[in-house]
Amino acid sequence: MPSKINYWKNPDKYRKASRDCNRKRYENDLEFRKKGAIRSENWRRTTAKGRYCTIKKSSRIRKMPLEITQKEFIKWFNEQKPNCYYCKKPNNKENLEIERLDNNMPYKLGNIKFACHDCNSVKGEILSEKEMLIVGKLIMEKKWKTKI
Ligand SMILES: [Zn+2]
Repeated sequence: MPSKINYWKNPDKYRKASRDCNRKRYENDLEFRKKGAIRSENWRRTTAKGRYCTIKKSSRIRKMPLEITQKEFIKWFNEQKPNCYYCKKPNNKENLEIERLDNNMPYKLGNIKFACHDCNSVKGEILSEKEMLIVGKLIMEKKWKTKI
């Protein structure tokens, strides 16, 4: 803070300095928030805790109970092989979606599997687990088995 005497000698200079300072603080804050948002998005996508947070939110949106605890989910997540349940394509866990075998049932042990985005989109709300396993086999043969 400028002393009162200096301030009144040249008020414009101090007003400008104060404006610049505030703008800088605001820009830094935006930068800080942007970085924070990226960090939290990464956390949600790549960590078991983050993924749990996501299914919790999605259950809330669907007005469905969440019948798996964070501890159970993390254990499940770490034990899973990183490939799609339907087409068996290997992938990073962060790219695999948490799929509910039966869409009418909540997220809980026995009703969740990793699925790739393709299979999850194809299955949608239309195909059952059994039907999708047949389609998954087709997807595997047509889409990626030929590539390796
Ligand atoms: Zn798949």
